[in-house]
Amino acid sequence: MKAIEETLKHCRKCEMKTTHQRNTNKTGLVMLLVHLVLIAVTWGVWLIILAIWTLLNQRVGGWICSECGNRRFL
Ligand SMILES: [Zn+2]
Repeated sequence: MKAIEETLKHCRKCEMKTTHQRNTNKTGLVMLLVHLVLIAVTWGVWLIILAIWTLLNQRVGGWICSECGNRRFL
């Protein structure tokens, strides 16, 4: 499930506080159980897939300025 998070942050390009947005994955208890089952079924291979997936999500999950589209990661 994807949700859009919004917050006010200082943008270096705009040189003022602007609205920043990012996509967040809301993972619940059900997803945790699914992951645990998948790790057991795939003999741990799923852990590697999960690690790559988390890394990709972190890149996508950076804050983006809604004014100029500038990316920041904190
Ligand atoms: Zn900006």
